[in-house]
Amino acid sequence: MNILKKILAAVKKDSRYENESQRTLVMLRCFYLVFLCYLLLFQLLMFFGEPRIFSWLGAVFTAAVCWALYCTYRLRVHSNLIYCSAVQLLWIVGSVYLYGWDVGVQHFIFVLLALVYFSLYETLAIKAVTTALLFALRLGMYFFCKAHVPQVLLPSSFLMIMQVFNSLFLFLQLGILFGTFSSNIESAEKKLVEYNKRLEQQAATDPLTGLWNRRTMLNYMTQFIKNNPDAQFAIAMGDIDHFKRFNDQYGHDCGDAVLVWLAKLFRGVFQANGKFCRWGGEEFLFFFPNMNGDQAHAMVSDLWININHKNFVWKDVDEKITMTLGLEENDFRSDLDDLIKRVDEKLYLGKESGRNRIIY
Ligand code: GH3
Ligand code: MG
Ligand code: MG
Repeated sequence: MNILKKILAAVKKDSRYENESQRTLVMLRCFYLVFLCYLLLFQLLMFFGEPRIFSWLGAVFTAAVCWALYCTYRLRVHSNLIYCSAVQLLWIVGSVYLYGWDVGVQHFIFVLLALVYFSLYETLAIKAVTTALLFALRLGMYFFCKAHVPQVLLPSSFLMIMQVFNSLFLFLQLGILFGTFSSNIESAEKKLVEYNKRLEQQAATDPLTGLWNRRTMLNYMTQFIKNNPDAQFAIAMGDIDHFKRFNDQYGHDCGDAVLVWLAKLFRGVFQANGKFCRWGGEEFLFFFPNMNGDQAHAMVSDLWININHKNFVWKDVDEKITMTLGLEENDFRSDLDDLIKRVDEKLYLGKESGRNRIIY
């Protein structure tokens, strides 16, 4: 168990260089471990196959892959990827030359292609050139094999086993590569989606109170009216009375705290029964979808009573806060701008006639 943990830690070990992709290093280490197993089994199979020459080649490649594995702890990711591609390329060319086309090692060219496209971060031109070169190499190997007898002639039953064996490891290597890079893309996408959501949230709300801002409310109301042209609704606008006094007497922070306190109160009173936003400085707009003026009036009165019955307590400050509100219902003739204008006029009327009241 302990050894397993140590191996896992060694595979996951981060790069000694800054800003290097740990994921790619982990992928390369897994890749090499699979490659080592492959080489070991390949040699074992070849040992039972006929003839047993060129077994030194397996040993050379095993050493090269071991060295490559060591390099993942020493070199930069890019150098490691180049080294990995070089070893893989030599293995393909060497094996095809020795054992011929039917062994199926040439398919590992697709692993090289995937390495170039997903991990080398090269320009598109280099990727295109590499693709063309790999294509040429594959064709070249094919025609070479057509024209020449392999150095080592393997029996057809053994060739079948080698085909299955090579296919298996090809899929393993591709699985490691695609698994790593698809999860890279997925995690980058997830981060982007989260970031966008955060940006959207920031653009839609007022940073002080967390309430919707004017733009979001206007969008919401416009959309509601567009989707429900025959629906009843009401709009109210509220403005804190003598708010300037709080700022002047207790400081701007206290004024801010009043706004936050009120926002909390709105949430408590309206819950899901209305939409509200910070319309501007110390003005709030309330929207009551599917409610007529009387129903909305009951809601607004509830809010007005709540504000009047609660004291704003902040640090040493313990004060009454009052708000004047105007209320207007949809008359199915006026557009949204007119309704907002009228509700604003009612609010002004409320201020004129002594404040702390609802004008409906
Ligand atoms: P009235 O009863 O006529 O509405 O009087 P008022 O003092 O509330 O109205 P006035 O429009 O004269 O003052 C509004 C003040 O609100 C002025 C501005 O400095 C303050 N204010 C606007 N936004 C903020 C804010 O985010 N924080 C704080 N602390 N003050 C704000
Ligand atoms: Mg005011
Ligand atoms: Mg005002």
